[in-house]
Amino acid sequence: MARRKYVVGNWKMNGLTAALGEAQAIFDAAKAHPAVDVALCPPFTLIGPMLAAAPGAAVGGQDCHSAASGAYTGSVAAAMLADIGATLVIVGHSERREGFAESDADVKAKAEAALAAGLSVILCVGEPREVRESGGAIDYVLAQVAGSLPADFDASRLAIAYEPIWAIGTGLVPTADDVAAMHGAIRAKLGDLADSDAAGTMRLLYGGSVNAENAAELLGAGDVDGALVGGASLTAGKFVPIIVAA
Ligand code: PGA
Repeated sequence: MARRKYVVGNWKMNGLTAALGEAQAIFDAAKAHPAVDVALCPPFTLIGPMLAAAPGAAVGGQDCHSAASGAYTGSVAAAMLADIGATLVIVGHSERREGFAESDADVKAKAEAALAAGLSVILCVGEPREVRESGGAIDYVLAQVAGSLPADFDASRLAIAYEPIWAIGTGLVPTADDVAAMHGAIRAKLGDLADSDAAGTMRLLYGGSVNAENAAELLGAGDVDGALVGGASLTAGKFVPIIVAA
């Protein structure tokens, strides 16, 4: 079965209500590209307002807690996201793995909680610069995949985003060949860890300095089914060309 292209914007800690017009413009423009699934993950505060501005759009969170509820000040449970109409959540972003000391086991628990709540999940993996330079990137990323993949999953609701840490927000990108090699290795690993149907169904996104200029090449690399976009997802002017390139 052909995998649909998937372009997801990660707004990180950016966006006040004044930015909702950009989201509206993005989702309006996406209607002209029905072969591409488009989603935005704004800060928690904007999920409800964004859904009100763009009813039926795919809007999600950038993180969730693995517990269903409880004494976790400042956290948001997957079921709370689903309750307000979010349909997806990012887990394991390197800014969470690094800044909040999230382990593979934490990320796996979050992904499992999100799937159980009915959300789709974008599970992020990616190597730091020194690992890339030492030639160990593929082994490093496959270990992250093995350690953070949910025990049980519906592959149509789980995507993996390969985001080399050194490419995030830096303007640096791997070559299309390096992206294809990594994505091919991830898909082969999924075949070992799950089964060939799941490996064939799951979408693999590339993330890290994707922009209007490089999107066609990166999205055209082997085994790339879409993009997770940070900085260039904040405005329709920058994000819509990436949707078009997909
Ligand atoms: P960037 O971020 O596109 O700004 O590099 C990507 C991400 O961190 O998801």
